[in-house]
Amino acid sequence: MSNLFYQGRGRKPVLEQARGVYMWDRDGKRYLDGSSGAMVCNIGHSDPNVLAAMRRQMDKATFGYRLHFETEASERLAAKLAGLCPPGLDRVFFVSGGSEAVESAMKLARQHALATGQGGRCKVISRTPSYHGCTLGALAVTGYATLTAPFEPMMRDMPKVPAPRAYLDDLNPNDPATGQYYADMLDAKIRSEGPDSVLAFILEPVGGASTGALVPPAGYMQRVREICDRHGVLLIMDEVMTGAGRTGRFFAAEHWVTRPDIIVMSKGLGAGYVPLGAMIADARLVEPVLDAGGFAHGFTYAGNPLACAAGLAVIDEIEAQGLCRNATVMGEKLLARLAGLMQKHEIIGDVRGKGLLCAFEFMADRDSKAPLPRRLNAYQRFVDIAYGQGLIVYSRRTRDGIEGDHILVCPPLIVNDTHLDEIVDGLETSLVHYT
Ligand code: PLP
Repeated sequence: MSNLFYQGRGRKPVLEQARGVYMWDRDGKRYLDGSSGAMVCNIGHSDPNVLAAMRRQMDKATFGYRLHFETEASERLAAKLAGLCPPGLDRVFFVSGGSEAVESAMKLARQHALATGQGGRCKVISRTPSYHGCTLGALAVTGYATLTAPFEPMMRDMPKVPAPRAYLDDLNPNDPATGQYYADMLDAKIRSEGPDSVLAFILEPVGGASTGALVPPAGYMQRVREICDRHGVLLIMDEVMTGAGRTGRFFAAEHWVTRPDIIVMSKGLGAGYVPLGAMIADARLVEPVLDAGGFAHGFTYAGNPLACAAGLAVIDEIEAQGLCRNATVMGEKLLARLAGLMQKHEIIGDVRGKGLLCAFEFMADRDSKAPLPRRLNAYQRFVDIAYGQGLIVYSRRTRDGIEGDHILVCPPLIVNDTHLDEIVDGLETSLVHYT
């Protein structure tokens, strides 16, 4: 009996050690971390340079409260992140995780509206399915029924538009008309809600756990930007999962040259070494808020120097090891190998992804796109089988969190061909055991 509890009662093996892409439990069993935890450990486990940077910071100071001190680590990390963002996005607010970053973005957007005489703007439009975090504000913009339903009476109902799942709607994702079709649903939603009541639109540039690596159709991102501009609606890019190189660029939005007003990031920034997140905003949003008396928001651990030193060292490693490039190269190989599995295994109905944010989806029938019966719990059973074989992958239900099963394959960005072989062999064996 343990005093810990998470989602359920099931006990997990006790982690003993982790190095690179591998993890070992207390019984000596080895696992290949094929999902980087929850798409977190982008540079792999126990990177010696990051550990050394953390030790150096620990010898100086591990905490300085943000209202009492700036620290060299937080100043340097903020400057580094600003340099990686499009010009103008250069105001950085540190937090300890993705949900905190999303909450911070929504609250900054609201305070900006108040400071600029747009107090009627309070709605944040998001997509279904989507995942933006588990705190009540972030959950209100999450489109994932299983997670949101119990808390609906406690949240403000935020408007939703469909995520651009061209593969389910039998549309060609490479046709700009498809991107326009989905983006125009945002336009219609803003109009029906009343443009003066809409504060922001938040989206995951490449879908994460909710949609299973959904890549937007051609033209979608550019059109979304135009629509937001037309209605004075802020564009918040949730790069919590996609940021820090996961999709082959430091930020996924770079693939479409779409300039957000606010970026939120977390997972790959702390990369599993420390809890860390950031909201990076356009100075044009921040200045009026500061002029009007300040940002009424903040978390005790914000800008923690140990976390910032680790984050800085993580980015240094991403750059020094060329991990964005490796994510692109290995991601293309992984997608091709997953497509090969799809050819052999009828149960795989779709393969998708960008960089090393890749997924496949189980379907009962490829033509009709019918999901497997819910009672099969395919996503969980497959993950358990793979785990038994020493391969960690990540999964969720795909369609509004109610049905559909996808498996995310998202190894650390340091993977090489040998690791890829091992991952694909593990998937193949697990598929054979599953079917
Ligand atoms: N946004 C996205 C896109 C995520 O994938 C997640 C977590 O999976 C979050 C926000 C919430 O992050 P956290 O779990 O660190 O609060």
